[in-house]
Order: sequence, then structure tokens, then C-alpha cells
Amino acid sequence: MSFIRTLKGDIQPGELGFTYSHEHIVCRPAYWAERGEDDLLLDDKEKSQLDVQDFKKYGGRSIVDATAVDYGRDVQAVKAISDELDLHIVGTAGFNKSFLWDAQIKEELKPIIGNYTTYAEWIEKSSINALTEFVIREVEEGLEGTPFKAGQVKFGTGYNRITPLEEKTLRAVARAHHETKAPMHSHTEAGTMGLEQIELLKSEGVDLQYMSFGHMDRNPDPYYHEQVAKTGAFLSFDGIAKIKYAPESTRIQCILELVNKGYEDQILVSGDTARKTYYKHYDHGLGLEYIIAKWVPRFIDDANRQGFDGEKLIQKFFVDNPARCFTFKK
Ligand SMILES: [Zn+2]
Repeated sequence: MSFIRTLKGDIQPGELGFTYSHEHIVCRPAYWAERGEDDLLLDDKEKSQLDVQDFKKYGGRSIVDATAVDYGRDVQAVKAISDELDLHIVGTAGFNKSFLWDAQIKEELKPIIGNYTTYAEWIEKSSINALTEFVIREVEEGLEGTPFKAGQVKFGTGYNRITPLEEKTLRAVARAHHETKAPMHSHTEAGTMGLEQIELLKSEGVDLQYMSFGHMDRNPDPYYHEQVAKTGAFLSFDGIAKIKYAPESTRIQCILELVNKGYEDQILVSGDTARKTYYKHYDHGLGLEYIIAKWVPRFIDDANRQGFDGEKLIQKFFVDNPARCFTFKK
């Protein structure tokens, strides 16, 4: 039995269609709210929905919302957008990187998480088993006490380091994956520590073809990408349009190098659009439509000029690969 689990229910992998594999839609991360970083709060459901509607207008069908509980997601708002636009949204169970845990847990979450003050306190004082049970409930019962279930499980690590609490969440997420068969995703800070994550996942007996590594394009190193790809895992190039990190040509060349080495079936592409200034309808940004409307034609032209079949690769990165990556295989 194989299916993809969306907030609206389980679907067949073939129903997913054109998919962004790592986005944030409506969220109010406590860590950033406490520090007055308004740009990082996607806190207006109607504005977020207008950007998602633009994505749909260009033919988008599905979005993976990579926002975990510790990043202040608004499950009800995201589910409402999915309903109102008739678009598939995959939710995320699990955790983010550790520095975000130095933030207050909102009162409404305490009946679900436990009576802790901060996320760090919760993760430190809970056993791995208790954290595993929490993640399993988010996949099998629903996110944050709602009936809307997660379609992937996530953990994260920091820049060039993995803290003991990050390792604890990695192990809890791996064990929840074994129990639920949910696909796994990770945050790598600036693309680092992917290989170290792999070692820990192997120690938990994880088959790496169930894994996608986020933010691989933040570390535009073809040798490193090859080491990750060799394990069978998916690589998420989810920093499209972030020229402050690298020009588009760098990301495209890294992708085409992986294609040359035979890994075209393991590549995902998305925008990780998590700031008001990236959204068109919050603050005049390029918007959620940018990749499907502008980047895809540029990639096709660029790839074709270099002797690749650009159209075929786009079908893989946005349709075929997500359909395999996000499938539960029971
Ligand atoms: Zn993200």
C-alpha cells in the first residue's frame, strides 16, 4: 500500500502533480516573534493565500509545508488555504534546529506537548520515547490536536555542529519513521552536516531512500552533493531566488552536475519562502509564483543549451521525484 498523506487526507502518489517540496505558508515562530523579527512572521492567512493562489494559477498542485511545531505553524490556517484553493498541502511532524528552541511554548500547545516553558526544556526533559510518541501522534492522529495529519517527519541540525538535543530529536524522528513509514526530511544549516546526519540515521537503521536533505544548495559543493546522493537520498535545492547566497547559475550547475552523475531521480526544487519580503502579497517580493512562472523557463533554456532535456528534468524535479519522495510505503 502506498499513499501520500496530505492535510485533507491520503492521496495516490499520481495525484500530487506539480509540487514545491519545502515551503512555509502561515507561521509565527516564537523565537523570531520574541526578537521582534517581523519579516520572519508569515502571520496573515489572507496574504499567504493570495501567493498560494498565484502558484496555483500557473499550474501548481501541491506544496509541502516544512513548518514543524517549534516554528509556530498555524495548522488551521494552512488547512483552510488547502480547502479554499483545492490544493494539496503536506504537513510536517517533528522538529527544527536547536537555536529556535530558546522560545516560549504557547499556552494552547501545553495540553499536547506537556507543561514546559520553552521548547528546549521540553526536548531536554522528555525521553526519546516520549518525543517519538509525540511525532507518531502527529502523523497518525493529527498535528497539534487537530485531525489533520503530517505527511513527513523532520529534524534539524546547526551550522557545522549537532548538539546533543538535536541528536535526540533526530533519533526520535528516525524511530517515528520506522513506526509510521512516513518520509523523512532534515534541515541542514547552510547545507552543512548532511554526512554526519547520515551516520546517525544509519545507526538508527534508516533506509536513506526515505530521506530528503534540505538546503543542499546552501553548500554548492558538487563533491559533497554526490556523497549525499550515493546513499539514495533526495537532495532538496530549496533556496531558489536567494541571490544573496549564490547566483541562480551556481544552483543550476550543481543540479546539472548531479544529473550528469546519474542522480536526476533524487532532486527536489523549492523556494523555502519564509519571509514577508519574499512573498508578493505581504511585501512586494518575487512571490510563491516565482519558481513556476520564471525559474522553470529559465532552467529549461539553460539546461537545453547545455545539451540536457530541460522539460524532462522539470517533470522529474517537480512531479515524479516528489511523488516518490513523499510516499509512505507500508
Ligand atoms: Zn524551511
